[in-house]
Amino acid sequence: MKAQPLNDLSRCCVHSITTKPWTLRQAVENYSSIGIPAITVWRDALKGIDPTEAKNMLDDSGLEVVSYCRGGFFPHRSSEDRQKAIDDNRRALDEASGIGAPLLVLVCGAAPGQPLTASREQIRAGMEAILPHAEACGVSLAIESLHPMYADDRSAINTLKQANDLAESFNSPWVGVAVDVYHLWWDPDLQKEIKRCGENGNLAAFHVCDWKTPTKDLLLDRGLMGEGCINLREIRTWVEEAGFSGFIEVEIFSKYYWQMDQSEFLNQIVKAYLKHV
Ligand code: ZN
Repeated sequence: MKAQPLNDLSRCCVHSITTKPWTLRQAVENYSSIGIPAITVWRDALKGIDPTEAKNMLDDSGLEVVSYCRGGFFPHRSSEDRQKAIDDNRRALDEASGIGAPLLVLVCGAAPGQPLTASREQIRAGMEAILPHAEACGVSLAIESLHPMYADDRSAINTLKQANDLAESFNSPWVGVAVDVYHLWWDPDLQKEIKRCGENGNLAAFHVCDWKTPTKDLLLDRGLMGEGCINLREIRTWVEEAGFSGFIEVEIFSKYYWQMDQSEFLNQIVKAYLKHV
């Protein structure tokens, strides 16, 4: 394995949800002051903030906005609900454009009680429906595969191969793929599919955290980089060999870390990033 020691934060991005207890303003101020140059904004962080105010805050901070999280959740059993999801994704694209985010990450969705094949067709249809609006907004779509433990209700797209297949089927510069180590580290085809993703120009985002043993909560017990079993630096090497040179995004949902003092947590994130990513 080619170790690539990383000694600075120049490509470090933190997702606002990682420090969920903070308001957007607190996140922006604290990330900036510790030397983190970029942020991915989650939709909940914009609640109650005027979009122009959010845009001004982000512009003034000098932080680069890497992506907006998240759109998706297209599959539903009723056509009314599917249409609502499409409308909501169009609003998410407007919001992304409003804060200057070039990418909307899609957690594609799945509807419990219907076959995954049906959910996948609904995901495709939903993406087709919003793609013209994405183009008009100048915001790309990134398909994020989710770990199969979420196949029942969060995503029917569970491997990088599926995400690559879907992205390539659109053959659009506005559709790419987000590679998240938490969802994909177990996949025996990961290196091959990362290479394919890069070769096809679809590698749009790279998300990091770690997988704890045992994982106590399926959703909210992600680990800090280095405290779990993911071969992070090796996967980073694969991503970079595939041509990716964008921001490396720290995305940790954790009840445990959200209870901590968030400034202390951010210090730990920086240390873990420098040591393990
Ligand atoms: Zn992610």
